[in-house]
Amino acid sequence: MQHSTFYERNAPDPALVERTLVGTAFGVHWLDAAARAGLRAERAQLRGSTAADLVVVGGGYLGLWTAVLAARREPGRRIVVLEAARVGWAASGRNGGWVDASITHGEQNGRSRWPDEFETLERLGRENLDAFERDLAELGVDCGFARVGALQLALEEHQVAWTQEAADGADRVALSAEEARARLHAPGVLGAALQSGRLVATVDPARLVLELAAAADRLGIEVYERSRVRALSGEAGGVLLTTVGGATIRAGQVALATNAFPSLLARNRLMTIPVYDYALMTEPLTSAQREAIGWAGREGLGDLANQFHYAQITAEGRILWGGYDAIHHAGGRIRARYEDRPDLHRRLAAHFLALFPQLAPGGVDGGVRFSHRWAGVIDTSTRFAAFYGTARRGRVAYAAGFTGLGVGATRFAAEVLLDLLGGEATERTELEMVRRRGLPFPPEPAVSVGVAAMRAAMDAADHREGRRGVFLRTMDAVGLGFDS
Ligand SMILES: Cc1cc2nc3c(=O)[nH]c(=O)nc-3n(C[C@H](O)[C@H](O)[C@H](O)COP(=O)(O)OP(=O)(O)OC[C@H]3O[C@@H](n4cnc5c(N)ncnc54)[C@H](O)[C@@H]3O)c2cc1C
Repeated sequence: MQHSTFYERNAPDPALVERTLVGTAFGVHWLDAAARAGLRAERAQLRGSTAADLVVVGGGYLGLWTAVLAARREPGRRIVVLEAARVGWAASGRNGGWVDASITHGEQNGRSRWPDEFETLERLGRENLDAFERDLAELGVDCGFARVGALQLALEEHQVAWTQEAADGADRVALSAEEARARLHAPGVLGAALQSGRLVATVDPARLVLELAAAADRLGIEVYERSRVRALSGEAGGVLLTTVGGATIRAGQVALATNAFPSLLARNRLMTIPVYDYALMTEPLTSAQREAIGWAGREGLGDLANQFHYAQITAEGRILWGGYDAIHHAGGRIRARYEDRPDLHRRLAAHFLALFPQLAPGGVDGGVRFSHRWAGVIDTSTRFAAFYGTARRGRVAYAAGFTGLGVGATRFAAEVLLDLLGGEATERTELEMVRRRGLPFPPEPAVSVGVAAMRAAMDAADHREGRRGVFLRTMDAVGLGFDS
């Protein structure tokens, strides 16, 4: 029997939704705020012909962690980062700022794909989050890192049982409706899975990436912008990189950190697909509005549907609200115009008001408005977690495929890339998760058809009290899935 979802049963008046979006700017709140704080100075373009010991392609978290950790492992090497556009402009500067200890895109995904080594992966993930925090302090990276933990909300009866299944009596606790509503005053909440601050932190994502770049400067790393690498070719003793602008650089080693963008290696072209994820940011809440929603612990917030939302409340009292729709465009195209989708932003706003009716126009202090709307591209892989590898006789290492959970996991991946380039066998490089790459997506048009079928199946599962139909179960069984 078809069952309506929480967001459908509690759909607000469309006129109220429109009012929350009056004057909402199209742009990324985090990057705007960083620019206003003077953190987005332009960097030079690579010109002419030069050489370096290590060249990192991509100026997001993965590229910058790789460069910074490389400089710390072996001071004195010449390290260059080449960024196609601006440092942190892509996923790293526009995400939900949820830093998860999981390096496997959650426990369920990790346990089902790597059952024999899951305990190790869980420990390595926790160690990575601890090292992440330590590194931020040592490198002087000020990005509001806070070990606030997370609340995964049950908004449907069948999700309450899932919160209990996830509980381990230590860092994962099931909360009753009363306990959950004591933390978050959202009337529709039926329970929650609470993860401790040992598992989840939040950050200002743009500050994280821009301050990592500033730390790279202090370590003597050269970071260039508007320097898109067009091609890699083998050379005696190294690799030659050519930029679109005609500059060349001879590298002893190369780390590829290009995320959802077309890989410079043909073998990786079908390993990820770009999927658009949409987000809204509110204006800062008034103190009466903050009191009306509780949320004093500032936990990362999510819901437990197959098509899920994520949220955080910033130190300034703004609420970031994103997720639900995950849009893939035929041919895997990435275009700025795909980011502005009034229909999807309207749906997000409606879902926000369903969860927080007290913040609707006419509510506490007149209700809230959204100040920003944007979208970003996620590098979805069939295993939902990053894959790794080397090319050109071990001189090039790559990682991609974080599938929407890369803020913490990119630091771990940077360590893996450096282990691989160093030719060392470490606990990390010996992992099956690192040694085996996972399955590619099928080529077009099959991939577009498959993604559309998968989304329809997830929506159907949310309308069938969470039960996964034959199609999703088949995809799970062959290890091919889809998630945002
Ligand atoms: C809306 C949204 C919300 C998200 N929320 C969360 C969250 O709350 N928690 C979480 O853990 N994860 C989240 N993610 C995912 C997370 O942001 C990413 O996994 C992470 O930022 C990936 O970092 P990266 O360095 O690999 O990629 P990116 O930040 O995309 O950086 C890749 C860079 O490579 C550059 N590049 C590409 N090709 C070339 C080339 N040929 N030459 C030079 N440069 C090149 C690009 O210009 C880009 O700057 C979210 C993502 C999105 C889009």
